[in-house]
Amino acid sequence: MDTKLWDLLPPACLAKSTLWIGGEWYEAADSGTFAVSSPIDDSALLLASRAQAADVDRAVRAAGAAAASWANNGSMRAGVMRSIADEIRGHAQELGVIETLDSGRPISETAGASIEHAAGLFDYYAGLADKLHGSSVPMGNEATAIVEREPFGVIGAISAWNYPLENAATKIAPIIACGNTMVLKPAEQSPLVTLLLAQLMQKAGLPDGVANIITGFGPEVGTPLITHPLVSKISFTGSTATGRRVAAAAGEALKSVVLELGGKSPMLVFGDADLSRAASAAVFSAFKNAGQTCTSCARVLVVRPILDHFTALCRAAAENLRVGDPFDPTTQIGPIISAKQLARVRQLMSGLGRAQDCHPGFHPVPGGHFFPPTIVTKFAPDSDFARQEIFGPVMALHAFDTDEEAWQLANDTEYGLAASVWTSSIHRAEQARRLLVSGIVWINCVHTLSAGTPLGGHKASGIGSEYGLEAAEQYMKTKTTVTMSKGWNSPFA
Ligand code: NDP
Repeated sequence: MDTKLWDLLPPACLAKSTLWIGGEWYEAADSGTFAVSSPIDDSALLLASRAQAADVDRAVRAAGAAAASWANNGSMRAGVMRSIADEIRGHAQELGVIETLDSGRPISETAGASIEHAAGLFDYYAGLADKLHGSSVPMGNEATAIVEREPFGVIGAISAWNYPLENAATKIAPIIACGNTMVLKPAEQSPLVTLLLAQLMQKAGLPDGVANIITGFGPEVGTPLITHPLVSKISFTGSTATGRRVAAAAGEALKSVVLELGGKSPMLVFGDADLSRAASAAVFSAFKNAGQTCTSCARVLVVRPILDHFTALCRAAAENLRVGDPFDPTTQIGPIISAKQLARVRQLMSGLGRAQDCHPGFHPVPGGHFFPPTIVTKFAPDSDFARQEIFGPVMALHAFDTDEEAWQLANDTEYGLAASVWTSSIHRAEQARRLLVSGIVWINCVHTLSAGTPLGGHKASGIGSEYGLEAAEQYMKTKTTVTMSKGWNSPFA
């Protein structure tokens, strides 16, 4: 046990009570637990509660009990959410340490940009919380329709392990800003920072029961959460395979879903691009968070005449990346989340030629799940490697000959999450915007996002959006009331 944990996490969590329900910490009703370990060196961090249907029911009921008063006071919601943003900024170091221990992301990110992103989401949606007006529709002289926007009530949220604090903030901020209450299950691999966030939200004045956090395994928590009669909507972030299962269960229960799923995003590099910037963008995008980024543009399509030169630029940049202990402030890349995910990356790479013979910056921690940044140039276009999301620090480069082929290759995937295009031609940039089937298209940039920028996958990358006003719209439903000033006359009269 790292002593830092004892100082940072709520004491109840360390005593196996990691279910935050109605503002209190509980064990699972059947006292079940699961071990949370660090990807850095595989050391045990703590035993977390393993929630089951009875715990889900308790959490949903707590959210239901908090729903009416939370829905009715937009200015209170705005004030509390701004205080949560302040608490996040005020505890950057603690949040960073916990997230780095639990997810392996470098401390320079978890205590840095991630904090501002998470806090910024609460600030952004706080600005919306007291401005959710409806509208009126004139219907001739005698009738008026009033269209109100109402919260759904209790929303069930399930999240992924790769950016735990930001993923939690991305769910919680828009959901509660719109007057909903919620139950969130963070991923089993990296739940700890969400538990610290719970404590900070409570300190900021979030009323008990508005957000409830339950730890546990997906299938055990997912089914009772999705099918619970008090849960009106499901918001899920994770793989496309699990997203299909979640959507099927929600569809059977006639509940709408927000799904933020996987990707196999392309980066397109044309001969007229600033190649040095493009190579540094490709390396950043492919290897950031050890490749465990949903919008990673690690499928790099390069116009043939510059392929060798561009590959050499990427190799030179990748070989000097500092990979190792994520608590070292100079480390750029930490471990992969788990032994299972590391094995999956290795399996997708098996049989491929790899450019990882020279990595002066690769210093894995003994026992950790590390993989060197790897660039692949020879692979079969129909292989699993070429078509499946890898979610590891692996870049694949291949050539195209014409612009038409570039758009066609970029779109030749079941996914449609993100794309990055490097060109100095306005015409090509405009073509990219029109022709790429993708939730976001970055032109001469990559991973440039803000709380206000909607990001929603096309095709098998999802349904709905995260961020922006679009995310909030999903967490409100409309109610129309038609009032007649004069008496209503039946056509049958
Ligand atoms: P998974 O789909 O394996 O898991 C995501 C969440 O779903 C976890 O909390 C998991 O629980 C839970 N889960 C698993 N099975 C079920 C089930 N049957 N019913 C309900 N919930 C279930 O994804 P990963 O955690 O591996 O995350 C990586 C994936 O997430 C990648 O595909 C990535 O692209 C995607 N992602 C997409 C983002 C986007 O915005 N589009 C953002 C971030 C990630 P448990 O913890 O027990 O596994």
